[in-house]
Amino acid sequence: MLFNLKPNVRIYCENCTNTYVVDEIESINQRIDCKECKNQLIYSDWLVDIICSDESIPIYAFISDVVINGETDIIVGMRKIVEIPDDIVKVQKIYIIPYTNLHVVPDVRYTDKIEHFSIISSQSFDRKEGFSHESKFGEAIKVKYTIFAKKDDKELDIWLKLLIQSREQYLEDKFALSFLSCAMSLESYVSSRIEEYLYSLGHKENEINLLLKNSSIDDKLFRYLKYFYSVIFSPTVSNGKLKKIFEERNKIAHGRNFFLTKDEANKCFRIVIQAILIIHSAIETTKAISK
Ligand SMILES: [Zn+2]
Repeated sequence: MLFNLKPNVRIYCENCTNTYVVDEIESINQRIDCKECKNQLIYSDWLVDIICSDESIPIYAFISDVVINGETDIIVGMRKIVEIPDDIVKVQKIYIIPYTNLHVVPDVRYTDKIEHFSIISSQSFDRKEGFSHESKFGEAIKVKYTIFAKKDDKELDIWLKLLIQSREQYLEDKFALSFLSCAMSLESYVSSRIEEYLYSLGHKENEINLLLKNSSIDDKLFRYLKYFYSVIFSPTVSNGKLKKIFEERNKIAHGRNFFLTKDEANKCFRIVIQAILIIHSAIETTKAISK
């Protein structure tokens, strides 16, 4: 599964500002009609916009089985323990949103099965925009939290981990690293799909590794994927744009460029997500035809 095709997806229509819920998404290329104005959008376009938006890391919503939105009382400066339901096996990410001007973070280990996490807070001395109230030590306030979790402990694929890492680096203003992780994510995704195809033909692991090791990223992206799964990148994502990403990646990796703008990092992320969706979709089509 690429990203969970979640039922009950809540979509905001930019055309008429109506919000509507789509009960079932069967394919990433599904067309969705706004129930008010009949404006059409394609699920994958919507997905790309959401995943590339600047706030937190929306990608977690698509790779989690459970999303818990809660609210709790805390006393500023005191640790607050929040219980996690029993059926949750792996917590992927917790976000805490304060209602007031406050430093607040979750204290959590994402590696183990956990029964609870703590909220740590402290008074903030710099004025954050959008908050009229400044919380003081000892004050009782409410905070909201969101827990993204899974009901199994299956490890995420490496390409997905890299994609999340890229977004975390982006949000920490580490744009060159974000770019690097993003390019690595795409290469890892492409390699794993090629590997999967060759396995299905009965090739041995060492043969496959040897082939992948001796193939350039251009070979993988533009030759093998086309040959195995009929992947054509244009028009949404051009071969030229993808080539540029890997040229830039090489410059960063070899220390020849380490100053990338936020915009460059975000564009790379967007192209990589689009490329992954195109590859995914072509593979699904190929599999459906050969059935
Ligand atoms: Zn609409």
